[in-house]
Amino acid sequence: MVSLSLVQVGIFAFLACLCAAIYAGLRNQSSLAWLAAALFCGAIGMLIVGQAGGSLSEWATITIAVPAAYLCVGQSVRIILGQRSQYRALIGTVLALTAVALLMAFADVPFLYQTLPFQLACALAVSESVIRLVRAPQRHVVDICLIVALSGLAAVFLVRIPLFLILFEPGSHYAVVKASPFQRVSLVISGILTPLTAFLLMVKVIGGVIATYRMRSERDGLTGLLNRQSFDLAVARDRRAGGFVIMCDIDHFKQVNDRYGHAVGDDVLRAFASLLETTGHSAGRMGGEEFALLVPVRNAAEAASVAEMIRQRFHAGSPPGIAPDHRLSASFGVARYWSGADPKTVFVRADAALYRAKEAGRNRVVVAEDRDVPGVDRLRAA
Ligand code: GH3
Ligand code: MG
Ligand code: MG
Repeated sequence: MVSLSLVQVGIFAFLACLCAAIYAGLRNQSSLAWLAAALFCGAIGMLIVGQAGGSLSEWATITIAVPAAYLCVGQSVRIILGQRSQYRALIGTVLALTAVALLMAFADVPFLYQTLPFQLACALAVSESVIRLVRAPQRHVVDICLIVALSGLAAVFLVRIPLFLILFEPGSHYAVVKASPFQRVSLVISGILTPLTAFLLMVKVIGGVIATYRMRSERDGLTGLLNRQSFDLAVARDRRAGGFVIMCDIDHFKQVNDRYGHAVGDDVLRAFASLLETTGHSAGRMGGEEFALLVPVRNAAEAASVAEMIRQRFHAGSPPGIAPDHRLSASFGVARYWSGADPKTVFVRADAALYRAKEAGRNRVVVAEDRDVPGVDRLRAA
């Protein structure tokens, strides 16, 4: 009969391969590589714990593999949370304790003393992930479940230290400890918490990777605003509510690049994007120095006043790298969108208004006539 621990080892090995395969496909997602390494070390540790006959090489492997698994978990959590700093002191202590445990095993120190630095190393290695998750500015349900499961695991390792010393004779062999009710209970608890933690970590890491890719596919890399496709979708999704699209184009932007260089030009684009974001409405970069804003108001005057506010602020501001006496400006075209409207039609009308703003001398807001808008009388009345 296949034992439960062997099933767990198989699942861990399978998940490690899965993470490694996804990592190989996506690249550049090292949180997955660390998770694969953690699962791999965990599988090795569990395989030997399940089968352990007590040989020195088996002990040495467990002593290295288990803390290593939790240190890899810590790195995976660090990357997925976007934390840069390494907990060098904590990692150094874990490595030193592991080395002490190994030396004790090779020096034939009784199991009970030899296991103490090992248990402490594991508890500390687990606590790195707990600290990282607790310090993260945002916590979702998965994070809270992970904190609970990892804290439970750390507690199991920590509790063993005093209880092993109290419950067993100093010379007790591992077989005696393993057969005791206390160790059985602690193994059952860690046997539940370990796969639970692995599952939650997979959810967290793979969920984080998917979120990163979704963000990259929906957002413009330079400004972080919605890209053209996502902005079109936002208009299409929002059309039942109705409102206005404001198309914006920075005036004489080519001259900014020519005079100050492309990098300063990029800063100006970011500054303009930040201004759009301060409105709190959906904002997109439609390409180059063209932007758009989705304003869910009913009244053309309200939409025009939003555009006018952005125009004035941009004209009054001095983005980094721009000479203080050089006033930048932008032109705006405002057009209504309505229930069932094709976003393309709305953009064409907003673009035409923007063109008129450019023709009229730039640095101004032009609102498209509502003439072609179906049911316009009803909309105006609303
Ligand atoms: P107008 O007032 O008529 O809009 O004139 P303009 O100079 O703003 O418009 P034009 O279309 O002639 O030039 C747009 C410039 O925007 C040309 C291009 O080099 C620059 N541009 C496009 N994308 C980027 C970018 O990502 N970064 C920078 N720095 N410049 C960009
Ligand atoms: Mg321009
Ligand atoms: Mg342009």
